[in-house]
Amino acid sequence: MAESRTLRPVALVIEDEANIRGLVSLHLGLAEVDTWEARDGTRGLELARTKQFDLIVLDLMLPGLDGLSLCRAIRLDSANMDTPILMLTARQEESDKVVGLDSGADDYLTKPFGIQELMARVRALLRRSPPRGSERRDEGVKSMVATSK
Ligand code: CA
Repeated sequence: MAESRTLRPVALVIEDEANIRGLVSLHLGLAEVDTWEARDGTRGLELARTKQFDLIVLDLMLPGLDGLSLCRAIRLDSANMDTPILMLTARQEESDKVVGLDSGADDYLTKPFGIQELMARVRALLRRSPPRGSERRDEGVKSMVATSK
């Protein structure tokens, strides 16, 4: 697949429920965010390992590989170790939120959620998202700081 030349942010939506996946993608698109979609955890991890995204929307309950395991795997070793992850879940217990955040998710949204809330969280996470390729840039900045005294 050819690398996208656009400067629009790119999100990965990992969700097995087609209506929610479609809804999230639709509204991300309306906010000028390009989306890639995966309908199970295995495919989601495959994409996360090979392509860098600006945001990952991740459902907790997924076939193949569940959202928590997937989140940990993305944080451990992938092109998206620092990419903001918004986790979607049907569970409401506080302990589950803690587990979600401990797994490396940046934010948490309980289904059913409103589109306004989804998009507010997406915007907040995108503001935090490091620009793609920022690791190399950070190294450059560090060496500049080190040499420009
Ligand atoms: Ca699900």
